[in-house]
Amino acid sequence: RIGTAALAVQVVGSNWPKPHYTLLVTGLCRFQILQLLKEKPYPVAEVQQLDRLEQFTNGHKSEEELGELSEQFYKYAVQLVEMLDMSVPAVAKLRRLLDSLPREALPDILTSIIRTTNQEKLQILDAVRLEERFKMTIPLLVRQIEGLKLLQKTRKSKQDDDKRVVAIRPNRRISHGSITEDEEEEEDHDDVVVLEKKIRTSSMSEQALKVCLKEIKRLKKMPQSMPEYALTRNYLELMVELPWNKSTKDRLEIRAARIVLDNDHYAMEKLKKRVLEYLAVRQLKNNLKGPILCFVGPPGVGKTSVGRSIAKTLGREFHRIALGGVCDQSDIRGHRRTYVGSMPGRIINGLKTVGVNNPVFLLDEVDKLAKSLQGDPAAALLEVLDPEQNHSFTDHYLNVAFDLSQVLFIATANTTATIPPALLDRMEVIQVPGYTQEEKIEIAHRHLIPKQLELHGLTPQQIQIPHVTTLGIITRYTREAGVRALDRKLGAICRAVAVKVAEGQHKEAKPDRAEVGEGEDCKEHVTEDAKPESISDTADLALPPEMPILIDFHALKDILGPPMYDMEVSERLNQPGVAIGLAWTPLGGEIMFVEASRMDGEGQLTLTGQLGDVMKESAHLAISWLRSNAKRYQLTNASGSFDLLDNTDIHLHFPAGAVTKDGPSAGVTIVTCLASLFSGRLVCSDVAMTGEITLRGLVLPVGGIKDKVLAAHRAGLKRIIIPQRNEKDLEEIAAHVRQDLTFVLAGCLEEVLNAAFDGGFAVKARLEHLNSKL
Ligand code: ADP
Repeated sequence: RIGTAALAVQVVGSNWPKPHYTLLVTGLCRFQILQLLKEKPYPVAEVQQLDRLEQFTNGHKSEEELGELSEQFYKYAVQLVEMLDMSVPAVAKLRRLLDSLPREALPDILTSIIRTTNQEKLQILDAVRLEERFKMTIPLLVRQIEGLKLLQKTRKSKQDDDKRVVAIRPNRRISHGSITEDEEEEEDHDDVVVLEKKIRTSSMSEQALKVCLKEIKRLKKMPQSMPEYALTRNYLELMVELPWNKSTKDRLEIRAARIVLDNDHYAMEKLKKRVLEYLAVRQLKNNLKGPILCFVGPPGVGKTSVGRSIAKTLGREFHRIALGGVCDQSDIRGHRRTYVGSMPGRIINGLKTVGVNNPVFLLDEVDKLAKSLQGDPAAALLEVLDPEQNHSFTDHYLNVAFDLSQVLFIATANTTATIPPALLDRMEVIQVPGYTQEEKIEIAHRHLIPKQLELHGLTPQQIQIPHVTTLGIITRYTREAGVRALDRKLGAICRAVAVKVAEGQHKEAKPDRAEVGEGEDCKEHVTEDAKPESISDTADLALPPEMPILIDFHALKDILGPPMYDMEVSERLNQPGVAIGLAWTPLGGEIMFVEASRMDGEGQLTLTGQLGDVMKESAHLAISWLRSNAKRYQLTNASGSFDLLDNTDIHLHFPAGAVTKDGPSAGVTIVTCLASLFSGRLVCSDVAMTGEITLRGLVLPVGGIKDKVLAAHRAGLKRIIIPQRNEKDLEEIAAHVRQDLTFVLAGCLEEVLNAAFDGGFAVKARLEHLNSKL
């Protein structure tokens, strides 16, 4: 329990890539711990000073013997120093120090300078008595003298008289006093030599090897305290660690791949089919040049997890690189090493993490790349993804080319709209639409529930979630295209049940019976404990009375709270001037209400709900068309005039005002909504619509039909009006969804209005036949 008190003089180093610090301290004295006062956050102890007092207390004692010892020590020290190259200033200084310093300080100083292991250094520091210290250091001096003699002999025979090499090491140590080296390296005096060996034996490219050897040469000449020392070392360590030539062996068997994909994911047939095609081509052609797959779809539809499955089928490592919000190209390509805190980009870092040069990299959220003053990360990604260029990808930090051509890149995005065009050009987009309710139920029961049970340590014998409950969660507690919120809700249910099960087990353990089959007893406690409304009454189950805990609607309400979404559609459509549109968002399709009202005024149109320019134009188009067709449909303003805007202001509102909305597809909805307002008739409550309009009343096709239809289906709507030219998109929609819905294919606004109002929207006088002149 002996330590050395010291004064920290300087701390240099960095935290990256791993903490590496050099501490420069001046030793003061030895001390002994008398009593440890506290250990955290740092140890505090009562100590007693042990040395440097000797000269006062027992200065006279055994002076003679010591004198002899110290004389002998001094002799060896001088001999050793003189064997070094005196032309090196530090050696000359050491020589002078030998004379000027008090003799009793010499053992400590010399031990820190000469070649000794950390163990030996510690032994000297532990030795309190001066006599003991002298005795222990002398053999070390002798050992080094012998070593040097041998070295000089071999040098001479090699006609190599460069003594400086011999001097370099002592030189470095002198300049640092008593530096404690990294523990791990203690047996190996010179980790730089080890590093060099590693570099030479690594399989890096020729160019990289050249750079590394140059750097290691510089490193050898550099004092450890220089900040650049740590930087260069980190750089070299990274170079050694990179998987230049290390790869996993692909095991690609299409039949097995199909099974893995099918086992991991329910539904998403189109995506799985395309992925299999891609893998089959890979198997036949055995090279990677080809488009990069990009999965585009709402969150939580399994894009990332398909990526993971692909890696699994290929037997490759998987690494996910999140690109959301990345706005600096050095995030991709690394910083130049001249910067403080410079580091490699995410690609190189990822390779280091996985340790092989042919992993599957999932570039997550490529649509969320941002631009900033620090350059455009998308441009850097181009180089990474381009098969023509990426075999010599040069990270700024590495500054040598690294071959990325073996890496399999897969990208994911929520929308293609914000992916930079050049990047999009290199990718093959595969749309992953949202799931239908039936698909969600299957996914929940095949994948999500078993996963959540395992996560919470539950078994199917303890909890049972029937299909109707799952449907309840899907319709009343979540409104999403994917299954992520559903997964979270299931997690919440499992947590609540886990508490009940654990409580039951706890109570059961209390009575002095030893472990009883957890079954029945536990159940008793659960029910005793569970108030009827908390976890539902499970008495009517055919299985043993209380277990499994059945999750029914009562339990659902208790655990998840009151339902968040109700089918309020029909309530909102109970007055004229409201219609339901279908919108596409990166998060999937959604139903959207459009509301209109009129008031006395000067013919102004007010639009609210954070609309984009395209949407505002749609509103103007809709009004113009209605004004020009007012007579035909007998639409009048409040005072009965066919000039709809005469003394009338119109206000159009798109609820969910906090969300920006844009796009042309609300055209038909606005027309319907205004037609309802001016005719005073109600729009059917189960109709939703989408379509772009022209000034002449034609309905043009729009995108995202599948997502929109699914949203309408989720919301319980029955009739959907879509543009005629979107008919082909209906093929993608699952048959059971199509069965539930009636589709009206509209080529012009007349057809839209006829379908939107019960009994059609009567045309009073046929003024003209609608024909496209475009
Ligand atoms: P994304 O990357 O599309 O946002 P994830 O891949 O993270 O979504 O998927 C979220 C969760 O949903 C994952 O746990 C995944 O296993 C699950 N999941 C999504 N789709 C399916 C599916 N078709 N079959 C099984 N599990 C699925």
